[in-house]
Parts: sequence; C-alpha cells; structure tokens
Amino acid sequence: MSELVFFCGTMDCGKSTLALQIEHNRSARGLVGMIFTRNDRAGEGKLSSRLGLVTDAVEVEDGADLYAHLVDHLSQGRRADYVIADEAQFLDPEQIDQLARVVDDLDLDVYAFGITTDFRSKLFPGSQRLVELADRVEVLQVEALCWCGARATHNARTVGGVMVVEGAQVVVGDVTGSADEIGYEVLCRRHHRRRMTAATARAAALAPDVLPVSSG
Ligand SMILES: [Zn+2]
Repeated sequence: MSELVFFCGTMDCGKSTLALQIEHNRSARGLVGMIFTRNDRAGEGKLSSRLGLVTDAVEVEDGADLYAHLVDHLSQGRRADYVIADEAQFLDPEQIDQLARVVDDLDLDVYAFGITTDFRSKLFPGSQRLVELADRVEVLQVEALCWCGARATHNARTVGGVMVVEGAQVVVGDVTGSADEIGYEVLCRRHHRRRMTAATARAAALAPDVLPVSSG
C-alpha cells in the first residue's frame, strides 16, 4: 500500500539530507524517483543539503498541478516509482492534495519533507495540509540546537541581526551584504518567546549593567 509520509522539523534538522538518502537508496535498487522542490538554497531545479550533496529536481511553479505532471510523465512512457517533495512547506495546500491523489490513484509512495512552522511559530499552509492528509508524520529529531544548548524547536527570522515576528511568511534568507540582511536561526521555545538569538544573548552578556559586580 502506497503512503504519503511527511518528514518534518525545524530548519537544519536534516530533512534534505534524508531526502537525498532516500533518493540514493532507491536509485541504487534501480528505482526512479520524481523529485520536486521549491526555493532550494542551491537554486532553481536543485535539491541540496547543508552537507553539500545536491541532485537535480523539478522546480514547482505557482499553480503547477503535481498530479497532472506525473500523469503526463508516465503517459509519455517515462518512469516514476516514487515521489520526493522537498521544501514542501512552500507548496500550496492544493498541491498537497494533488500529492495525496498521486498516492491513491497512481499507487506511488510520496515522501514530503518540510519545515513545520514559520518564524512566527505558525504552521505553513503546505505543512498544515500535510499534517491533515499524511498517512504518517515523522518528526525529525536531528540535533538542531539552540545557542543555549537546548533542542531547537522553533525557527527565528532576523533582520540586521535582530529577531522579528512580523513580515511575509516566505522570504528566502541568507541575503548578505546589507544592513537589513535577513537571516534565520533555530531556537528553543523559551528563547524564541523571549526573542533572544545568539547575537542578542552575546550582546546582553557583554553589556556593562550585567557584568558581575567586583568588590575590589
Ligand atoms: Zn535556548
């Protein structure tokens, strides 16, 4: 029985690495995957991991019908034995419904990988739809750590080094070289709630008013 599986977690929890490993294991057994992605850091039509591995993928455009894409592909006599959808948080809810239809009507396993919540700790619509529809949700527990050492469960966005909780849901980060540079950082819930990033914590530790009082 084919399944729709949602592998989810924070940024840096190893999702793309696992996606690449599933792809590698299956192609080693002679299976052919259809790999979808959207806004990967390595650029359009790529699925990459922070460890430096990369493979070609189909870039999902706005409004693309993923079910129709697979039907077209198969009806041209080309193979697809399973489907990987990376950066699934960026897919529309309708596209998640199409992936469920791929499982049910085309009898293919679909492995979706995505970040569960955004920088405001709200579910991405694509991730929400996956939680609603998936046969299985696997929460990845790779050791993504907050600066304090606790397990990181939340994604923070920073602008010019300061954590923000307002703004568009999707802004691809690591835009360098400007004062309003956007970055992302994983935090534990406590420090996400207090808006305390590694840089903020460091600055607070160095501030004169919190230096230990010396009695001379
Ligand atoms: Zn923390």
